[in-house]
Amino acid sequence: MQHQAFKLTITRSKRKTLVIYIRDEGVEVRAPLKAPQNWIDEFVELKKPWILKKLKLQQQKNSERLKLEEGEAVLYCGKPYLLKLSQGKNQVRLEQDSLFIQARQLEEGYLKKQLQQWLLQQAKESFEPRVWQIASTMGLDDKVQDVRFRKTKTKWGHCTAKGVLQFNPLLMMAPISVQEYLIIHELCHLKYMNHSKDFWALVQKHCPDYRESEQWLKQHGHKVWC
Ligand SMILES: [Zn+2]
Repeated sequence: MQHQAFKLTITRSKRKTLVIYIRDEGVEVRAPLKAPQNWIDEFVELKKPWILKKLKLQQQKNSERLKLEEGEAVLYCGKPYLLKLSQGKNQVRLEQDSLFIQARQLEEGYLKKQLQQWLLQQAKESFEPRVWQIASTMGLDDKVQDVRFRKTKTKWGHCTAKGVLQFNPLLMMAPISVQEYLIIHELCHLKYMNHSKDFWALVQKHCPDYRESEQWLKQHGHKVWC
């Protein structure tokens, strides 16, 4: 059977069921070691409308991803700034409605690094103190071991059982209300290491509008991913 609409990869492993993952490069089916090919084909055929819908959505999201080109809009604390690029000593700064990136190289990968470093610096200066402040308001500051920043591929935040809170510096691009929600979300994990009803009730108690922030992340989160 042909699946011309997308590239299909089959990964076999010791599992019992079939599962489909939408990847950047196409579609991956994870299948049991001895799953017959026609079983996989039928499954994929059955799921085709769903797969096509997901691929289209992914394509759209990819096209909305942050591009570091002159005149593009870059978010900082939820507000769009006009990107202005120039060659020179590495430096990033905000001025009125513009975000200036001056860099030794104007190549996109290099520019991204400059922006990421700047966001990390901003996160340390303005985000970290808010983590401690909110932790103290919630009476949880004695449970926080450390606040760290790390750019990961998929996560905004993470909390370890030992009380280390880790945040993605890219969240500096999100509105302040979303940043605070992410802080509260991770802090609530100090009490519940899961996403149970009790966990969400605690989130809601400290962040009554958390659903709006979740919605923002769903709608715009991919736009700041660089
Ligand atoms: Zn969580």
